[in-house]
Amino acid sequence: MNELLERLEAMGRPGGLLALGVAFLAAAAGAGLFWLTLDPALGVEEAQRIAEGGSGMSTRWRTRGLRFSALLTFAMALPSAFLGVRLLTQRHYPRADEVFPPMDVGAIADALSQRTEDLCVCTRCRVMVPAAFSTGACPVCASAVEYHEVQSDEDAQMVLAAMS
Ligand SMILES: [Zn+2]
Repeated sequence: MNELLERLEAMGRPGGLLALGVAFLAAAAGAGLFWLTLDPALGVEEAQRIAEGGSGMSTRWRTRGLRFSALLTFAMALPSAFLGVRLLTQRHYPRADEVFPPMDVGAIADALSQRTEDLCVCTRCRVMVPAAFSTGACPVCASAVEYHEVQSDEDAQMVLAAMS
């Protein structure tokens, strides 16, 4: 069960839908098992056993067994339901490389040749940010070594050479 929940969690939002499905099935199975114990035939059977000189215990234990199974099944539904709700409502925090996807070198070359302001380029991640917004290190890999500020055409050439 735990393994199932971990797998669902790793799937993110689709896992949340599946977890709610699992919770629904488990709850329905639990309700079904409990419903079986409400069968008046069980009471009739118990009375009959007692009338035949027995104790009626076996019928009573069968009822308890079914109720216990129903409880266990319900107990499985709860964590699945919580996981499902959590996975469906949690916010996805984007990673840095999703915010700054790697650009192709041609696009960087074009941007550098047409630049109207200073730009910073990470030659490892191939990302580019305006120098005005730069913190002095690459926003993706945090490297300051492969992160260059382009203020002149010479800088631009050096950066492009580093990426070719
Ligand atoms: Zn970088």
